[in-house]
Amino acid sequence: MSATEEVIIGQDNLIKYFNKLAFLSDHQSLGGSFILQGPRGSGKKTLANFLIGKLLCQDKSNLRPCGQCPACLQLKNKVNGDVFWLSLDDDKKNISIDEVRILIRSLSLSSLTQGYKVAVIDRAEKLSHQASNALLKTLEEPNKKTIIVLLTTSLADLPKTIISRSQTFSLRPLAPNLVYDFLVSRGYKRSQAKNLSALSLGWPGLAIKLSEDEALADHLLVVEAFLKSLNADQLQRRVILDELLSRDFEAEEVLSIWQTVSRDLLLFKLARSEWQRYVGFLNQFQDKLNFSIKQALTWQKSIVQGKDYLAANVNQKLVLENIIFNL
Ligand SMILES: [Zn+2]
Repeated sequence: MSATEEVIIGQDNLIKYFNKLAFLSDHQSLGGSFILQGPRGSGKKTLANFLIGKLLCQDKSNLRPCGQCPACLQLKNKVNGDVFWLSLDDDKKNISIDEVRILIRSLSLSSLTQGYKVAVIDRAEKLSHQASNALLKTLEEPNKKTIIVLLTTSLADLPKTIISRSQTFSLRPLAPNLVYDFLVSRGYKRSQAKNLSALSLGWPGLAIKLSEDEALADHLLVVEAFLKSLNADQLQRRVILDELLSRDFEAEEVLSIWQTVSRDLLLFKLARSEWQRYVGFLNQFQDKLNFSIKQALTWQKSIVQGKDYLAANVNQKLVLENIIFNL
């Protein structure tokens, strides 16, 4: 199975919609905007590429892009003149209004092939306030055959006005065994595939990222931060928190990992180690494993509550602080 096939599992509605768009005749053709939401490593870009391929592929006899026609080859080589990608520059805090204006201007030029024109804005939650407003005008009056795709890790950080004018789709995590099969099909050793799929939280892209040592080390650091905080004094907890904050992790990602760790700890208490994700890892923290089931349930609760706070735009640092100091 290819990475694309894995990522598009469970995205039936979205794919059906793009199928419909691709098959509309010229005078029926539509424009519009879509939001794809999912954490880092969930495959948003892969899915966006697949959907664009469906729209632009010249071979309409297939349900998936043919991969061989001029449009598909241009997409593959990232030189398709009707597709524009905008993302956050590494050294900047926001996507600026100027960048959005250039994008809108590019979209307003007529298509090179009379087909669709597509803009993808990656990390759309980083659009500046002015940039969002500039984009909004385009979303309010979409041109025919113009599609705007917004990719985001956090829907809560997009302006409501943009959300209300777009169709939103959330990527769903896969069952760990599907991620495992995917990794094995990509040539990973079975033992490695087992570890990675357990750590991936159901996201094939994250599993691949974790296979690169640095990403795995980061992931384990977050796991470790939680375990080390148990029975730690206030000062130690402060040090642990500061290290996490200095690494620029997204709080939402940290909470997803912690949720799994606290679930593991509960399973440990219930003696169901076969369901744990971090079995080998927990063994290294034997001295921290002196807690009650009630405590483990409280941790779960406070993490879920933390996620709610994030969704309500509470400061990321405060949310993490509140959890770490109350473990
Ligand atoms: Zn094609």
